Amino acid sequence: MMIVAKFGGSSLANAGQIKKVAAIIQGKPEIKAVVVSAPGKRFAEDIKVTDLLIALFDAVQAVGGQVGQVGHQTEALLQAEPVAEARQKVLDRYASILIELGLSTELLAYFEDTLNGYIADIQEPERLLDALKACGEDFNAQVVSHYLVSLGLDAHYVSPKEAGILVTDEPSNARLFDESYAQIAKLRDRAGVLIIPGFFGYSKGGDIVTFSRGGSDISGAIIANGLGADLYENYTDESFIYSMHPGKIARPHPIKEITYSEMRELSYAGFGIFHEEALEPVYRNDIPVMIRNTNQPEIKGTKIVSKKELDPRYPVTGVSSATGFTAISISKYLLNREMGFMRRAIRFFEEAGVPVEHVPSGIDSISLVIRSANIQSPEHLAGILATIQDKLNPDSIQVEDDLCIFAIVGEAMRENVGVAAAASRTFADNHINIRMISQGASEISMLFMIKAEDEDIALQGLYQAYFPREALATLAAAAQGE
Ligand code: ASP
Repeated sequence: MMIVAKFGGSSLANAGQIKKVAAIIQGKPEIKAVVVSAPGKRFAEDIKVTDLLIALFDAVQAVGGQVGQVGHQTEALLQAEPVAEARQKVLDRYASILIELGLSTELLAYFEDTLNGYIADIQEPERLLDALKACGEDFNAQVVSHYLVSLGLDAHYVSPKEAGILVTDEPSNARLFDESYAQIAKLRDRAGVLIIPGFFGYSKGGDIVTFSRGGSDISGAIIANGLGADLYENYTDESFIYSMHPGKIARPHPIKEITYSEMRELSYAGFGIFHEEALEPVYRNDIPVMIRNTNQPEIKGTKIVSKKELDPRYPVTGVSSATGFTAISISKYLLNREMGFMRRAIRFFEEAGVPVEHVPSGIDSISLVIRSANIQSPEHLAGILATIQDKLNPDSIQVEDDLCIFAIVGEAMRENVGVAAAASRTFADNHINIRMISQGASEISMLFMIKAEDEDIALQGLYQAYFPREALATLAAAAQGE
């Protein structure tokens, strides 16, 4: 059994948390590689190290020193008060961790040199930002590795370069090149436990490029896939994925097993425990993912798998909801006979850089559903509408904002009738008008669109409809492994 474990920022936020992580690694010799995030928040108002590094970048930009120039100008930039202050905040976080772990603070001088070296040498702002952001994970992996060695473990820091994580050259949005896997596989031959920083890789040109925010999950999945792990454990401060968002409904029950496909459908509408792109590498090789809690490692958390046993009594695994949608409805008499109408309508959005996410249609009308945030300004939308009016000559165009989409998800829905009926009944009972219904061919999810103001009441109603009180104890006990 070989495990790749990834520890998130809250699991490594301070020395106390790092000690818990070390105890988990010590107690599980199956863990071959550990992927770490940067130290996260220690308390609600705290600032993540990644954000401190972004603030350092902002300070460098604001001081506006001639980055990259040698001699006294670079020196002046490095010494400038805002830069020095921002850098010190980063170093202070590591200093307190090192001291509390009883480690030497020698590493700090090296960390400072690394930050200064990047600020002095990297001229393109986007590249400098990525190099600085990567330091959060990179320094933390070194700290964790030193600590494990101090406990007598055979631990080794392995940089993403050494690991062979080759990525596309898109700053802050890297994607892995598949050829990396052959290189990563070679890590299997290395002795001991490998400590690898998450969140970044190297471009073919040798530059540091980070994944999008929260991207250490992606690194963990990549390493798990590359090593051919039997299990990918993702440690955070949560033990489970819940059947509904715990912030939106009181005490939803935890899920014991969920498939990659269910997880993907649920994360479309707001299930954010895991980075969206992180499932892809493990999905490809069918490596199960276990959600684990660093603070309660004895709990077997939610497992994400390719196939699970279906229980026809509970066709729905989870319900997620997301607000922030806008629908643009276009009507035209005999629309269905007009060749290319739909395609052209979508194209006008594409040309304006706005992705269309759903296209529910009637006989003489279609609606294009978009994320409201993708509209940059009222003029932006007005421009698209004017083009539609001009080129398609519809009878009417209507815009409706503040919409909410519900995703009702479950593999067992495929063999079950009545799931849609239960949702419709719930909406009707609560006098909620349904603006759109859509079901994909896979039949594992059903989408409903309603007004955002009705989100809470709809969630409560749906929860009761799909998880009747008598079922809850059974479901919760199953998840707890009882
Ligand atoms: N430290 C990075 C972030 O805060 C990546 C991560 O933690 O996954 O986004």
